[in-house]
Amino acid sequence: MTKQTAKPFLTNLYKGNNMIDFRSDTVTQPTADMRAVMNNAAVGDDVYGDDPSVNQLEHVAAERHGFESALFCSSGTQANLLALMAHCERGDEYICGQQAHNYKFEGGGAAVLGSIQPQPIENNADGTIDLNKVVAAIKADDFHFAKTKLLSLENTIGGKVLPLSYLEQARECVNKHNLALHLDGARVYNAAVKLGVDITEITQYFDSVSICLSKGLGAPVGSLLLGNKALIDKARRWRKVLGGGMRQAGMLAAAGQYALENHVTRLSDDHDNAAYLAEKLNSLSGFDTTPFQIDTNIVYANVDEAIDLKAVANKLKEKNILFSAGKPLRLVTHLGVTKHDINCFIDALAAEI
Ligand SMILES: *Cc1c(COP(=O)(O)O)cnc(C)c1O
Repeated sequence: MTKQTAKPFLTNLYKGNNMIDFRSDTVTQPTADMRAVMNNAAVGDDVYGDDPSVNQLEHVAAERHGFESALFCSSGTQANLLALMAHCERGDEYICGQQAHNYKFEGGGAAVLGSIQPQPIENNADGTIDLNKVVAAIKADDFHFAKTKLLSLENTIGGKVLPLSYLEQARECVNKHNLALHLDGARVYNAAVKLGVDITEITQYFDSVSICLSKGLGAPVGSLLLGNKALIDKARRWRKVLGGGMRQAGMLAAAGQYALENHVTRLSDDHDNAAYLAEKLNSLSGFDTTPFQIDTNIVYANVDEAIDLKAVANKLKEKNILFSAGKPLRLVTHLGVTKHDINCFIDALAAEI
């Protein structure tokens, strides 16, 4: 029998698609060191509770964020859905922002799969939700109404950091009205790094928190859900029902743990790069970032009507630069984007407008 040789595409393993990609921080490629950790990860069947790397990640993550338990989930969408389904029963409702990911961008999963009614409330410009409006939306105990069970916040939201003082007020509010408090913390580490505080300064206010390992933290797949044991047990059950019970998931969990241990402090590079990108972009005629609060790694800009962004995006794609041609323009920095890449992008953009 002839010995199998490595297929040619494997030689480019660490380089990914070789693009400068501003579409999202979900596009990051696992680094060589992360891949080495994944390669060496001990694995077992996690549905049997046998995967040492998943168990370790869940243990470390619970402790690190100040919770009793943690659950490794396949995505942020799944972690949020599990949180909603663990907090709420059929006919219950959660209050969230009109711009909340777990209202607007998750296919209506809570309603579709959980029979849970969302009660969205417009977000303020800074991403907060007016707590007076939250209180006004809480339904009385009356069989005409859904039962209001939960307030769900998002931090960062559109890259904006919620003030710690607001989180404290939100906690007081839910305590007073007997609601639980969930955080969609897909990018909560960006918030902690921006504020220069330990992650627990944020997570302490919440009954549950979801965290994406696969965005700025740079793991290939996976999110965490954190909560007390009863809540996580319930979420674990729903995860299996939803087809999210994974088997030898330890290779992914090991990447997630590596990301938590090695890719947090470097998020400040992404924030610095975003500020640099915003400044450069703003210096181009037809682009205006000034109406937007750019706290972390997401840059928004208004774009002149006369500029055909789709055509520009197609041109830049030929130069190996990817961005989403929406108006307002939204660009995301991450560990795959350097200052040099930003300069290349700005030069290419300037040449096309
Ligand atoms: C990306 C994101 C999610 C969902 O994460 P996926 O892993 O893409 O499902 C949830 N909430 C927020 C705020 C996000 O940005």
